[in-house]
Amino acid sequence: MKYYSTRSSQQRGCSFSSALLAGLAPDGGLYVPQKIPHFSSEELAAWPCNLSLSDLAIKIFPAWIGEKTLEDELTTLAPQIFNFETPLSFLNHNTAILELFHGPTAAFKDIGARFLAAVLATTAAPEKRVLVATSGDTGGAVAAAFHHYPAIEVVILYPEAKVSPMQEMQLTTWGKNVQAFCVRGDFDDCQRMVKELLLEPAYAGDFLSANSINLGRLLPQTLYYAQASLSYQQQQGRTAGVIVPTGNLGNGVAALWAKAMGFPIGEVVLATNSNQAIAQYFASAGENWTPLPTITTLANAMDVGNPSNMERLLHLYREGGFKQLQTDVSTIVVNDQEILLTMKKSYEQWKQLFCPHTATALFAREVISQQRKHDDWIVVATAHPAKFKEIVEKVWHSSLLSLPLPSSLQSIIARPQAKKTIPATVSALKHYLSK
Ligand SMILES: *Cc1c(COP(=O)(O)O)cnc(C)c1O
Repeated sequence: MKYYSTRSSQQRGCSFSSALLAGLAPDGGLYVPQKIPHFSSEELAAWPCNLSLSDLAIKIFPAWIGEKTLEDELTTLAPQIFNFETPLSFLNHNTAILELFHGPTAAFKDIGARFLAAVLATTAAPEKRVLVATSGDTGGAVAAAFHHYPAIEVVILYPEAKVSPMQEMQLTTWGKNVQAFCVRGDFDDCQRMVKELLLEPAYAGDFLSANSINLGRLLPQTLYYAQASLSYQQQQGRTAGVIVPTGNLGNGVAALWAKAMGFPIGEVVLATNSNQAIAQYFASAGENWTPLPTITTLANAMDVGNPSNMERLLHLYREGGFKQLQTDVSTIVVNDQEILLTMKKSYEQWKQLFCPHTATALFAREVISQQRKHDDWIVVATAHPAKFKEIVEKVWHSSLLSLPLPSSLQSIIARPQAKKTIPATVSALKHYLSK
């Protein structure tokens, strides 16, 4: 299997591990596989029920990796990486919640970060450093994952005053090999700084990106879509669509890659907050892709005006075109008022608290259920509500509900914070980076 940049089909492809080590392709594009591996429905029907993420990784990844050594390692690595559950919990007969918040930092980012860290630690030369821009959850997951591998240095950039207090603690309390920079700007500034630094020859060979521009983050996310879609089909006898709270579009592309691999997934609905660049592209019938300035919302991990993975989405539909894209994917924009309302309503209706990001997907389900004949949905729950205590309290105008913290979050509160605040420029960042 070879990997190519989204921006050019002319170059020679590279291997899976080179794509991981580079993060961003030399021409500034994102790595995509030459062809997405496919499993037929007969093949899938012959697989045992209730496969774990680790079992699925061992079945699916060899076709993506195509490198003997790494494939051999996978049998040992997979059970260590995917050591927590991603359960499907049914709200009613046609709606299930895919709970992706049972990992060490209580958001789905743990899955990609743990895979990337483990693979890099086995394949990378130790002098590699990891650079990551975060809108809230990625940085914490990457820090937690790489903290186990002290030889790899991690540099995190996050936007000042735009992450929750709990998220900031998850970014700034690691010490040792993890350095966090608070950037005077928004997430798109952080993401731009990462790309700029990676394209500087003096740093390109040294740093790699752990954002969802990195293939190693995206690929493991296909596993829970594979697992959930098979499980839904086995339990209900029908195929479900998935509703994905969307920001940088990594999770959405992972869902589409799982669908392209042959897993039983219907429509993919991208639920965004008021950052509506993707929705505007769809509204323009695919004529006009224009990144927009980032707007701050209650679903802060989705505050992205220029989603990086749009390149991968467009690349995936380069042959099918907008017509096919429109058949497979739709978008729904959810504003802050609707987020708060949905959080409140879900608690009243199901006695369940959801995080503001998950609330965008739940709201989208309400909207779309009224429009579709086919009405089976997997709603993706991307983070634990306790990470967003301040917003949960806003819903009830008090801390009426005491939110029990998962043990992973409890241990973080106890540690001291260390951060540096810098302007949103690469030169400011370089000033602090060790040579
Ligand atoms: C990162 C994140 C998202 C958005 O995922 P993308 O892959 O960037 O689209 C949604 N919800 C939560 C809780 C997140 O941390």
